[in-house]
Amino acid sequence: MVFTGLKCTLVEIEVNGTRGQPALIIIGLPNKAVDESKERVTASLVHCGVKIRSMKTVVNLAPAEVRKTSSALELAIAVGLLQLYGNISWNTSKTLFFGELSLDGNVKKVRGLFSMIMAGKALGIKRVFFPMENIEEVRMIQGIELFPVKNIKEILVYNNKKQPLSFVSSKEEKFSDQGKDEFLSIVGQEQAKRALAIAAAGKHNMIFIGSPGAGKSVLAKAMRSLLPPLSRKESIEVTRVYSIKGISHKGLITQRPFREPHHSSSLVGMLGGGRNLHPGEISLAHHGVLFLDEFLEYPRQVIESLRQPLEVGKITLTRVTGTVHYPARFMLIAATNPCPCGLWYQAPGKCTCSDLEKIKYQKKLSGPILDRIDLQVKLISIDPERFIKSRKIISENNKRPEKDSLEKIREKIYLAQQIQLERQGNSNAFLQYSDLRKLGNIQQQAWELLTSVAEKFSLSNRGYLKVLRVARTIADLEKSHEVTKKHLTEALVYRIH
Ligand SMILES: [Zn+2]
Repeated sequence: MVFTGLKCTLVEIEVNGTRGQPALIIIGLPNKAVDESKERVTASLVHCGVKIRSMKTVVNLAPAEVRKTSSALELAIAVGLLQLYGNISWNTSKTLFFGELSLDGNVKKVRGLFSMIMAGKALGIKRVFFPMENIEEVRMIQGIELFPVKNIKEILVYNNKKQPLSFVSSKEEKFSDQGKDEFLSIVGQEQAKRALAIAAAGKHNMIFIGSPGAGKSVLAKAMRSLLPPLSRKESIEVTRVYSIKGISHKGLITQRPFREPHHSSSLVGMLGGGRNLHPGEISLAHHGVLFLDEFLEYPRQVIESLRQPLEVGKITLTRVTGTVHYPARFMLIAATNPCPCGLWYQAPGKCTCSDLEKIKYQKKLSGPILDRIDLQVKLISIDPERFIKSRKIISENNKRPEKDSLEKIREKIYLAQQIQLERQGNSNAFLQYSDLRKLGNIQQQAWELLTSVAEKFSLSNRGYLKVLRVARTIADLEKSHEVTKKHLTEALVYRIH
């Protein structure tokens, strides 16, 4: 089996031997890597004491039109040769073999195994032989026989004994809870915590604007504790992406991804692509959080390229070698300084920037991407003395005063998400103006308030829309059918511009 992105294709290997000039020929669009495999397959068989027959041997990889870019086919080719030579006699139908071979017959780790086994299972494959080194990634897969192999010799042993090598029993994964400690460690910052809860409830993207040291990164990480645990289906989706990227993972990934690519990341690093059409950061953040600190330092092109995936939840990558689709439904949390020196929101007089510098800096923040960021949260770093004091109180009493409140906040968030799904089938962050008019249940007084504020502060149309979306989520958190003036007033707090 080979893969291009998340698409896996079964490759059938036919091996034929005829009289003629002794040679090993691999046909069916093999690329260079597969071609080099010839040497490794032959050498590894010789090393394991297999007598290579001197005949013209043709290995056909079908279907021919699929590009075989993976040396992971080597084990399968070797097994085909062993069948031809009569070293093994069992039926290999409905069986997959994965592994790159070393010259001494060792079976080496392959990329994308989890994804390929899941695809094989869907095609009715019964058993899989794969490199022992990959075991942790796949051991929980159920409904398929798994045979980890260290060396090709074990295939010969299996032939004689007909028993599983070291059959792995599947085990159920426990879903864990992360980000909780981050959330509980945040002292003060009530408005920011409230904003996190609103964002989690309505799947709103958000931006923190505040000075260095205001805890932007801790706040962003805390978001994970407010999102429900990954469902099994989501876990599988996330794990497949990591498997393709070749990031080792222990079993199913059950934690929501949290990615924080540096602002020097390339466009390919962020979106995915390159020669092998690898998934990028946005896909590694699928079902999790993409945190972009120092948001204005990222190249414009990188920032603007996020807009489309943010809207559709996936990315399509095209290169000469083909087209692949990767999921990319992530929550964007951005963070930036309010001005070049970073101290604008701190105590008066600390900021050394001129008004013009401030305006110029904030202007950089506008742009189409901001369309997709509903919440803007102003952060002020808390007084270090107060921070230490409250830490002390927590440790002295050896209890976590906010623990109950975290559970309560979570309950409200889950409930608010349910309300949205029942009402409109998606989250409030995806509502358009017409949806809000139709389904938003916005009280007349709230409309009037918004209109007057919009006039007074010359709120743009998209600013208007964002306030309405956030207000709808605030109402949902309170299980309120209608959006009232109070909800709207709070939503207006999350607009800085
Ligand atoms: Zn400044």
